[in-house]
Amino acid sequence: MGYLKIKCGRCRGTWEIYNRDDWHNGNAQTCPHCFSSIDKKTWQDALIAFSEMEDVNRQLIADHNGYPDAYPLFRIDYRADKGLY
Ligand SMILES: [Zn+2]
Repeated sequence: MGYLKIKCGRCRGTWEIYNRDDWHNGNAQTCPHCFSSIDKKTWQDALIAFSEMEDVNRQLIADHNGYPDAYPLFRIDYRADKGLY
Protein backbone atom coordinates (compact mmCIF):
# COMPACT_ATOMS: atom_id res chain seq x y z
CA MET A 1 0.00 0.00 0.00
CA GLY A 2 1.32 3.38 -0.93
CA TYR A 3 0.95 6.64 0.91
CA LEU A 4 0.37 10.30 0.18
CA LYS A 5 2.93 13.02 0.88
CA ILE A 6 1.38 16.47 0.97
CA LYS A 7 3.16 19.82 0.90
CA CYS A 8 1.47 22.93 2.26
CA GLY A 9 1.94 26.07 0.18
CA ARG A 10 1.22 28.35 3.15
CA CYS A 11 3.80 27.17 5.68
CA ARG A 12 5.88 24.90 3.39
CA GLY A 13 5.39 22.06 5.86
CA THR A 14 4.78 18.51 4.70
CA TRP A 15 2.86 15.56 6.05
CA GLU A 16 2.21 11.99 5.00
CA ILE A 17 -0.96 9.94 5.06
CA TYR A 18 -0.68 6.18 5.45
CA ASN A 19 -3.13 3.33 5.21
CA ARG A 20 -3.42 3.15 9.00
CA ASP A 21 -4.72 6.74 9.14
CA ASP A 22 -8.38 7.73 8.86
CA TRP A 23 -8.46 9.52 5.51
CA HIS A 24 -12.00 10.79 5.90
CA ASN A 25 -12.11 12.45 9.33
CA GLY A 26 -10.78 15.85 8.22
CA ASN A 27 -7.40 15.52 9.92
CA ALA A 28 -5.79 13.90 6.89
CA GLN A 29 -6.60 16.88 4.66
CA THR A 30 -5.44 19.46 7.24
CA CYS A 31 -1.86 20.68 7.51
CA PRO A 32 -0.61 19.67 10.97
CA HIS A 33 1.77 22.66 11.05
CA CYS A 34 -0.49 25.63 10.26
CA PHE A 35 -3.96 23.96 10.17
CA SER A 36 -4.75 25.07 6.62
CA SER A 37 -7.12 22.61 5.02
CA ILE A 38 -7.54 21.16 1.53
CA ASP A 39 -10.98 21.75 0.04
CA LYS A 40 -13.26 18.81 0.89
CA LYS A 41 -14.25 18.07 -2.74
CA THR A 42 -10.65 18.34 -3.92
CA TRP A 43 -9.58 15.97 -1.15
CA GLN A 44 -12.21 13.45 -2.26
CA ASP A 45 -10.83 13.71 -5.82
CA ALA A 46 -7.31 13.12 -4.48
CA LEU A 47 -8.44 9.98 -2.65
CA ILE A 48 -10.10 8.65 -5.81
CA ALA A 49 -6.97 9.33 -7.86
CA PHE A 50 -4.80 7.67 -5.21
CA SER A 51 -7.06 4.64 -5.12
CA GLU A 52 -6.87 4.33 -8.89
CA MET A 53 -3.06 4.50 -8.83
CA GLU A 54 -3.07 1.79 -6.18
CA ASP A 55 -5.24 -0.35 -8.46
CA VAL A 56 -2.86 0.18 -11.39
CA ASN A 57 0.13 -0.92 -9.31
CA ARG A 58 -1.77 -3.99 -8.07
CA GLN A 59 -2.56 -4.80 -11.71
CA LEU A 60 1.13 -4.46 -12.62
CA ILE A 61 1.96 -6.99 -9.89
CA ALA A 62 -0.74 -9.34 -11.18
CA ASP A 63 0.58 -8.99 -14.74
CA HIS A 64 4.07 -9.82 -13.53
CA ASN A 65 2.89 -12.79 -11.48
CA GLY A 66 1.04 -14.17 -14.50
CA TYR A 67 4.15 -14.06 -16.69
CA PRO A 68 7.11 -13.67 -14.31
CA ASP A 69 9.76 -14.46 -16.92
CA ALA A 70 8.33 -12.38 -19.74
CA TYR A 71 6.81 -9.43 -17.91
CA PRO A 72 8.96 -7.37 -15.55
CA LEU A 73 7.55 -6.02 -12.33
CA PHE A 74 6.77 -2.35 -12.83
CA ARG A 75 5.68 0.22 -10.25
CA ILE A 76 4.43 3.72 -10.97
CA ASP A 77 4.97 6.56 -8.50
CA TYR A 78 3.55 10.03 -8.98
CA ARG A 79 5.45 13.16 -7.94
CA ALA A 80 4.08 16.65 -8.29
CA ASP A 81 5.89 19.27 -10.34
CA LYS A 82 8.12 21.12 -7.87
CA GLY A 83 7.88 24.25 -9.99
CA LEU A 84 4.33 24.86 -8.82
CA TYR A 85 5.54 26.50 -5.61
ZN1 LIG B 1 0.79 24.46 6.51
